[in-house]
Amino acid sequence: MADRVPPIDRVLESIDAAETVALAQQLIRIPSITGREGTAISTTVAEWLTAHGIPAEVQEIAPGRLNVVGRIEGAAPGPRLLLNGHLDTKPFDGMVIDPTGAVIRDGRLWGRGACDMKSAIAAVLVAARAVRESGELRRGTLLVGFEVGEEGGGWTFPQLIGGPGACDAMICAEPTNLEVHLGARGGMPIVVTTFGLATHTGMASQGINAIQKMARVIESLYALPVLAEEEPAWGRSQLNCEQIEGGGKVTASVPDRCELKVDIRLNPGLPPERLGPALEEMFASLRATDPDLKVEWAPRVAPWRATQIPLDAPLLAAIESAAARVVGRPPTRAGFPGGCSAMLLLNDGKPAVIFGPGHIQQAHTVDEWIAVEQIPLAARVYAAAALTYLS
Ligand SMILES: [Zn+2]
Repeated sequence: MADRVPPIDRVLESIDAAETVALAQQLIRIPSITGREGTAISTTVAEWLTAHGIPAEVQEIAPGRLNVVGRIEGAAPGPRLLLNGHLDTKPFDGMVIDPTGAVIRDGRLWGRGACDMKSAIAAVLVAARAVRESGELRRGTLLVGFEVGEEGGGWTFPQLIGGPGACDAMICAEPTNLEVHLGARGGMPIVVTTFGLATHTGMASQGINAIQKMARVIESLYALPVLAEEEPAWGRSQLNCEQIEGGGKVTASVPDRCELKVDIRLNPGLPPERLGPALEEMFASLRATDPDLKVEWAPRVAPWRATQIPLDAPLLAAIESAAARVVGRPPTRAGFPGGCSAMLLLNDGKPAVIFGPGHIQQAHTVDEWIAVEQIPLAARVYAAAALTYLS
């Protein structure tokens, strides 16, 4: 950190709340459904950057699909910090509000992308402009980079950071309700199969019911001791029995097979190489108490570990001090419940955190909204964090 504290408060005061919200409204009014975003959203963002003195570059992914990067150079060499978000949204199907209305009512801004994550894009843009106009960027480069395709349309973030968005550290602006999220959970989707012995229903007690056996397995899965472990900021790892199928091959017959799909989301303290043996141990003890139990399990896809920024990383200190300064109290630490771009940086050994306006519960909903007051707060946090980290 520098020997001179930048006059951050002056920069924060220059961020106009009404203008930040109006920009979010403007972006929501431009449809950008994932996979078929069209160029309007990207060119609007690129032109906004250029109009405010920030050199911008578009990266063509495919015809009609553009990523955008803006760049502000500091006074001296230093790390490249990327403020990142995605320009695309989920489709409009089933929505019960006007998806592009961008109406403000009851302190909320309504529309597709209001929460996930056009308000965050607006906050990042306004923050970048405030930083540029202040002339206070002491070292390094502040990048703002936005990709298409994050919501299922063919994610292009790897191309972004492989191209003009190449960076050394990143703040992912996904909705965290202004909490600081240290990383994202890992995962281990598995399939469990129980095998029984088919008999006529009238003689069910002489068969082995694969569904009944699976019921015991399910109870044991939810009772796995490693899933009761609590970690600071993360709480417990999460298990979800998400799909089950068994029986019905023949009517009036004891089912001889049952298959269960389970998804387990893992905290940093529960890597797949710890969960695997815990599962083996659980199945072994079930088999030991029930000689009729025939059960197998296997991963459905390769498991992945949780990612977490090192707790002594200067980027974490920068965002936490920025959030405390702007919001007036230290932010809550948590873990991001889903996947996001920060995982790629963290897996690469680079610092990344997730911080954004809006609550993830409102993302992808039929009446998506965001609390208006969070949008300018996020902008001020991004500006303060950038000036602190690149000071
Ligand atoms: Zn998102």
